[in-house]
Amino acid sequence: MKENAWSKLDKDEVFRFSDGYRIFLNKCKTEREVVDYIVSEAEKHGFLPIEKGGRKIYEVNRGKSVIVAVKGRKDLREGLRIIASHADSPRLDLKPNPLYEDEELALLKTHYYGGIKKYHWVSIPLAIHGVVVKENGEKLNLVIGEDPEDPVFTVCDLLPHLAKKIQGDKKLFDGIAGEELNILFGSMKEKKKESKKGEQEIKNFILKFLEENYGIKEEDLVSAEIEIVPSFKARDVGIDKSFVGAYGQDDRVCVFTSLKAILEVEDPEYTCVFIATDREEIGSEGPTGMKSRAFENFVIKMMESPDIKDLVSVFENTKVISADVSAGINPTFKDAQEKHNAAKLGYGVVIERYTGAGGKYSTNETTAEFTSEIRRILNKNNISWQAAELGKVDEGGGGTIAKFLANYNMDVIDCGTPLLGMHSPFEIASKADIYETYRAYKAFYEG
Ligand SMILES: [Zn+2]
Repeated sequence: MKENAWSKLDKDEVFRFSDGYRIFLNKCKTEREVVDYIVSEAEKHGFLPIEKGGRKIYEVNRGKSVIVAVKGRKDLREGLRIIASHADSPRLDLKPNPLYEDEELALLKTHYYGGIKKYHWVSIPLAIHGVVVKENGEKLNLVIGEDPEDPVFTVCDLLPHLAKKIQGDKKLFDGIAGEELNILFGSMKEKKKESKKGEQEIKNFILKFLEENYGIKEEDLVSAEIEIVPSFKARDVGIDKSFVGAYGQDDRVCVFTSLKAILEVEDPEYTCVFIATDREEIGSEGPTGMKSRAFENFVIKMMESPDIKDLVSVFENTKVISADVSAGINPTFKDAQEKHNAAKLGYGVVIERYTGAGGKYSTNETTAEFTSEIRRILNKNNISWQAAELGKVDEGGGGTIAKFLANYNMDVIDCGTPLLGMHSPFEIASKADIYETYRAYKAFYEG
């Protein structure tokens, strides 16, 4: 019935598109970097901060989430067309008191963020990205481990010869514990210093080094957001270069493709809105997450004379794509999925009427009516698409921001790119699916 997207796509165009995508991934490894990228692209395309007004506007929330909009010909009360993705990805965050010395090595304590398999994060090169805000409010942006001349960091694993008892009998998931994700950070000390017993010479050396080279004191690390991410670059994968392999494609593939789509919107019928939210990987909590009132406040600010009844009309008439990735079927682990309802790489963008788990708990389920509208748009534009759910009944599950948007009484459907190795440090997407995701989002905005 469905055909592989490669059989109809222009390969050169698809490859050109993914070249731009790889550049974006290499620049954007944290939610703040994603937001900065979006703002700079939006400004290049004539968008202004919401307080300056105009047809093309954007608003940044705390540097960690952003909403971009193009006002349509129709009144706002006739509803919006929203595509909402998330800019955060699983990673290791530094704890508030990260630096310590043990066996004359300096290390950093981390607390992982989002759903990871902890054993993925040992023995790979890692980079440090983030901000340190000093007591006087001065903000330092750090990126260490991306330039070829930079040092990288790592979590050291135990050699197999000694691991039999400590790791060998454990279940795979528990092989590395959260408190074992300690970053190797340094090992030098001052020349010929006579140390007193108990003095932490290595830690002291590192603190002095941080102060002299970065102007950072130990207490500054309390008011910092330092994220440890893989330091390797996005790469073409496969002998035919048909895939992109990279960290953070969940959900930056949907951020990039929907950003491209809204930047190309010129004179839409309905007001088009792009959201790149934060905190999705930990339940959408906090002011920058999708559960926050920030989105509602943005809509109120867009309205000429905000009235609660008008706001209700805006929400009731709004249609949303929750733009998030799906799990493609992995030939080596097919048993995790039910093949008739699993996404396949190369078969285009995936629509999911529901996510959740076991008996459809914890999900909005898109109506048949709205699903039919989406189908019509995709088919009319000859876009490769597939319908799927996440895993076998009672065995798999997951969630997206769809249900939080649906709570406004809006129609919401999940629609995004299938990945292999989702939530691993090196996720895989088909270039054909990336391109079809972009075309699907563009068609949705255009109606
Ligand atoms: Zn996601």
